[in-house]
Amino acid sequence: ASGSIVLEATDVQVSYGKVTALRGVDLELGEGELVSLIGPNGAGKTTFCDTVNGFLPFGGSVQYRGMEVGSTSRDELVDRGMIYCTEERDLFGFMDVEDNLRLGAYAIDDEDYVDQQLEFVYDLFPRLEERTEQNARSMSGGEQQMLAIGRALMGDPDLLVLDEPTIGLAPVILEDISQAIDPIQEQGVSILLTEQNVTFALDHADRMYLLENGEVVKTGTPEQLRGDDYIRETYLGG
Ligand code: ATP
Repeated sequence: ASGSIVLEATDVQVSYGKVTALRGVDLELGEGELVSLIGPNGAGKTTFCDTVNGFLPFGGSVQYRGMEVGSTSRDELVDRGMIYCTEERDLFGFMDVEDNLRLGAYAIDDEDYVDQQLEFVYDLFPRLEERTEQNARSMSGGEQQMLAIGRALMGDPDLLVLDEPTIGLAPVILEDISQAIDPIQEQGVSILLTEQNVTFALDHADRMYLLENGEVVKTGTPEQLRGDDYIRETYLGG
């Protein structure tokens, strides 16, 4: 990673009772980078996202912009721009699209910023702009995913954590999500992206980590991982 370090995880360990979910994970994410954490079901991707966002007790160290996550409040992390778009999306189903988006900016006082960013989100996802008054719960899975990403963007992210944004999406919708990634990165946002969809991660990542059973077993650039026999055979269908 060049430039300053946004996120640095060192020997991160997490257990749920007797189940060990992370067994000493090291990961570094530099300024403006898109780092992807790939791995199969149950590898520990969500656990890692929950951990860096300060939702779980853990062993080891997670530093975000030099702050130790374990001793920083959630409010402070969000305030400093760590914004988490969870796999569950956490939308307000009975509220419409625009209200969901504006809620993402609840902590931001700068109204000009909020209006500009709303425009950015609508440019990014025209399907949302066509549905400003539609209730979130009546939207398709893909539209809800766009809304969840849009709402995260309204929070003025410095580090955007996207947990499996493509899960369960049809190929056409996947394309809509895909074309949104570069413009987000171009806004200066650093991104941690977890994925089971290795092709999607390869297409967008600057660097990648393969997590299996709570351990990082491979790391490298997309170019390096595309050329890796194990990755090809196990995750890219030979
Ligand atoms: P998926 O792609 O299915 O979401 P994942 O890579 O995100 O998988 P995690 O959800 O982090 O993986 O799960 C890692 C391991 O921790 C799994 O074995 C899972 O069963 C276990 N686990 C996760 N959450 C809990 C919990 N609240 N209590 C007990 N075990 C848990």
